[in-house]
Amino acid sequence: MSRIKLVITFLCCVFLITTAYAKQTAVVVYTDPVNALEKSIQKQLQVSDTVESMVTLSNDTFKLNKQLSIVFGGEEGPLFDPETNEILIPYTFIDEINRRFKAVKYAETGVSIEDASSDVLMHTLFHELAHALISMYELPIVGKEEDAADSLAVLLLVEYFEDGAEIAISAADLFDLESMDNEIIEEQDLWDEHSLDAQRFYTTLCHVYGSSPESYSDIPKQLGFSQERAEFCVDDYANMLNSWLTLLKPYIKN
Ligand SMILES: [Zn+2]
Repeated sequence: MSRIKLVITFLCCVFLITTAYAKQTAVVVYTDPVNALEKSIQKQLQVSDTVESMVTLSNDTFKLNKQLSIVFGGEEGPLFDPETNEILIPYTFIDEINRRFKAVKYAETGVSIEDASSDVLMHTLFHELAHALISMYELPIVGKEEDAADSLAVLLLVEYFEDGAEIAISAADLFDLESMDNEIIEEQDLWDEHSLDAQRFYTTLCHVYGSSPESYSDIPKQLGFSQERAEFCVDDYANMLNSWLTLLKPYIKN
């Protein structure tokens, strides 16, 4: 092979590898809003750094083996679609969170409606990222995948973000609000793939406490946890951290 041909072949290989690698990233897609409300939510998302932070963390931390698209808009979701490797979040989901927090005057807790909604979105994005990682790497999960996704969401928030525990607390508060929708627990709530909203509320806060018992010493008392339960939250968080690190180690960059 002539030298020129060799150089061309080499450059082609570099191009192909670079192109292939470039596709193995998380990207955000904002589909066209269908009305003024969706348009305002799209704007809210684009000016806040919530989505960008999640995408940056995903790309900086994980060796994704294919492109992961985070698609805003449409009617389906929040969910992860393993067929298309897309996380789908309707604009209306963000509106629904805004409304729920507004209805209970959540701003009186000292966290603005915008911040609380961003926190819930961030938790949701990491929950869906967990489903994506489980699917992409074919990770073995024993127990409910939904619980595993909640636990990874809290773990990524707490371990990677300075105010991650506070973000998780807003998400827990939304579970609490949602749990009030159903005064009577029906059969379908029991066979649902998700744990009950009330359980997701307690588990999320249990993990927040377990991640730093000194910083969140008031949580067990507020929730009425027994001493034994509170101690188990600490063990549970440590186990969860160790389990996820073991599972994800081959796929974490450096
Ligand atoms: Zn899920």
